[in-house]
Amino acid sequence: MELRQWLDRGVGAFEAWTRSYEEYAAHPAMAVDAEACAAAFDELTGRLHGSYPFFHPCYAGQMLKPPHPVAVAGYLAAMLVNSNNHALDGGPATSVMEEEAVGQLAAMAGLETHLGHLTSSGTLANLEALFVARESRPGLSVAVSAEGHYTHARMCHLLGMRVHEVAVDDRGRMDVPALERLLATGDVGTVVATTGTTALGAVDPVHRIVPLARQYGARVHVDAAYGGFFALLAGDPLTEESTGQALRAMAQCDSVVIDPHKHGLQPYGCGAVLFADPAVTRFYRHDSPYTYFTSARPHLGEISLECSRSGAAAAALWLTLRLLPLTRQGLGAVLAAGRRAAVRWAGLLDGSPHLDLYQPPELDIVTYHPHTEPAALSRVDRASQEVMRRGMEAKEHPVFLSVARVGAQAFADRHKDVVADLDHAHILRSVLMKPESEPYLERLHHRVEELARGAA
Ligand SMILES: *Cc1c(COP(=O)(O)O)cnc(C)c1O
Repeated sequence: MELRQWLDRGVGAFEAWTRSYEEYAAHPAMAVDAEACAAAFDELTGRLHGSYPFFHPCYAGQMLKPPHPVAVAGYLAAMLVNSNNHALDGGPATSVMEEEAVGQLAAMAGLETHLGHLTSSGTLANLEALFVARESRPGLSVAVSAEGHYTHARMCHLLGMRVHEVAVDDRGRMDVPALERLLATGDVGTVVATTGTTALGAVDPVHRIVPLARQYGARVHVDAAYGGFFALLAGDPLTEESTGQALRAMAQCDSVVIDPHKHGLQPYGCGAVLFADPAVTRFYRHDSPYTYFTSARPHLGEISLECSRSGAAAAALWLTLRLLPLTRQGLGAVLAAGRRAAVRWAGLLDGSPHLDLYQPPELDIVTYHPHTEPAALSRVDRASQEVMRRGMEAKEHPVFLSVARVGAQAFADRHKDVVADLDHAHILRSVLMKPESEPYLERLHHRVEELARGAA
């Protein structure tokens, strides 16, 4: 797809639409000097080159990649209109696109009924789910795994809810017996499970958590901000059986958060929250003296905590899902490439004399560290940070990795014979979320091995 051609088409469609209204005069106050504009624009694009190359497979660090060209074109076409999906007054066309796209996300999660909407981020989406959790189970607390996203504790603080941290097993997944002990205290109203933790890509066993939570009358919220789209691979041989079961069990949960700006090929500003019970709409009830007038249909702002929200984000997602639908062959093929790359890299790391695999990848996040002799946390820590630094600073063939901090006990759970001379260590972490990582993998591995050889 030619990005320029579709951007041009978007601008053309917008201009044609504006010409369908009566002609009006432009105001001189809006005019900018062409030369000054060119200079400022050059400065802008020059400064943007100070970014890391998120588009390139040599960037194998954080959960970052550019949006799909289709999403960019759809976003631009709608951004020119600049609709606001808070109310049908502001986004009559894009609100309907949002409902359609959200319906597809709900179907992917397996929800039979749903109430949901897009948000500006996963954090906001989780805040809404926790708000509904608080209203549904007043006075009770939240249980989230030690590997859950840090924003849960922050959002619970904001909502005045107590949080219990649940221990994890030796692959970073919520420990079910530990959860049961906590549920038995009667203090937990909501369990937050994560299908795809941000550091390790670990998938909590939702299929085991749900029946247990139900037994104790607790709700289950799934934070699938990063991992939700892997539901498309739930039945695939690329996915471990228990991981597939956990992803499919999202269908039985009370709420699910999925970030299209993570694995849905969207630009930032696109999270989503889904509730299984449409009746939770009662917790959002409010009135506004200046909106909600153009339609008796429910407005998205009536079921969300945010007010103004980008209609373009909905349009971009809607267009993307038209072309890469939420099927194994559609968007699933994009995720499968990253997953295959992660599995293959794990094999290469396992066989490498210079690198060790930290734990087998469950989705597309690979964690590893330089092999050190003697094996000690302080050496692993130093060498990992050194590899990241040298990779980024290399004049030729730079490679961009990220690090994650892991505790000494967590490390010992996976690698018994390492000397715990620190209470935590940094290890290397690569999110292989671009399908381009698959054909590039051998080069990436070779480069990282080379760096590790020099750093260990
Ligand atoms: C990224 C992420 C979040 C936060 O989402 P934002 O869109 O960055 O606000 C929450 N939970 C998980 C599991 C994530 O990976």
